[in-house]
Amino acid sequence: MFVVMARTATEAEILGVKSHILAEGMTPFDHAASERVVIAVVGDVGPRKQVLMSRLSALAGVEDVTPITRPFKLTSREFRPEDTVIRVLDAVIGDGTLTMMAGPCSVETRDQLFETADAVAAAGATILRGGAFKPRTSPYSFQGLGVEALRYLAEARDRTGLPVITEVMEPNQVDIVAEYADILQIGTRNMQNYSLLTAVGRVARPVMLKRGYGATVEEWLMAAEYVVSSGNPNVILCERGIRTFETYTRNTMDLAAVPLLHHLTHLPVIVDPSHATGKRWLVKPLAIGGIAVGADGVMVEVHPRPEEALSDAEQQLTLDQFRDLMTVLVPVHEHVRSLHADPVVSGAALGIGGGGPEKH
Ligand code: PEP
Ligand code: MN
Repeated sequence: MFVVMARTATEAEILGVKSHILAEGMTPFDHAASERVVIAVVGDVGPRKQVLMSRLSALAGVEDVTPITRPFKLTSREFRPEDTVIRVLDAVIGDGTLTMMAGPCSVETRDQLFETADAVAAAGATILRGGAFKPRTSPYSFQGLGVEALRYLAEARDRTGLPVITEVMEPNQVDIVAEYADILQIGTRNMQNYSLLTAVGRVARPVMLKRGYGATVEEWLMAAEYVVSSGNPNVILCERGIRTFETYTRNTMDLAAVPLLHHLTHLPVIVDPSHATGKRWLVKPLAIGGIAVGADGVMVEVHPRPEEALSDAEQQLTLDQFRDLMTVLVPVHEHVRSLHADPVVSGAALGIGGGGPEKH
């Protein structure tokens, strides 16, 4: 549930409500809406819900107490109708601009990273990606350069000005990765690693949470709820394909998830057509598809010589292919945004801003 404070509520009344919530064994979360204070009440309320709602309604300064019907609370649009906008260095994610995350699957050498970083930055990427700790299906495959790669990523940031994103696989890696990287990525295999989610929830770095390849949208949002309820509101969701019976593609890219998420949550949504398709030539059409259905951005893997890549060789774009992708995506994104100005096509139809049909 959330407590809407009256416009006239004093600081003391707000504190009074928060201490009451704490005394009931629940946690208060502030949402500083533009006009008034809204406090989410999070915890295992169980059968006490009605009693707690009427007790809170009776407190001084409280205007309204409303239940949050979704199991995910802090991440729901019900609690926070306006979009979450994340700022990291000069990049802004979720404000309607096109976020382009690009870089190699794995950081292999300093030169390979710098060559890629320079090229993607010049072509208009807004965030540099590169794997340092790699979650590989086989223990015999290249596992990443680890801390050495983190150092190269930090150097590449200094060189290009782009914030860097890289994956963190274990709670005990969170501090070192957060020391070097600007955004922490949680990979598909770890989406339900709750101790990792809680650990990244405690650091002052945005987190990109990739969808578990077997996860429903609700399980994904509950995973995001772990991060946000641990204290980190800056979560980006990344649709990277789910496993289905189809074998021509590495995964099946769930494009419907994009407008659905915009309807259910205020968090920004990115698509990753590289891991979703596993095929270089399918990356461009699916990137366009993701932007067309309202994604806030795209993550793609780019390598100067993909055929020599130590991981995901089949799906990485060449530098030329990335430049070509940008020349197509920028106007597609502009066109999609312009549709928002058209009341017939905007909002609900694109699923942006929380419109759209209800209930499932
Ligand atoms: C990656 O982005 O490098 C990666 C391993 O992705 P995923 O977790 O989606 O497979
Ligand atoms: Mn990869």
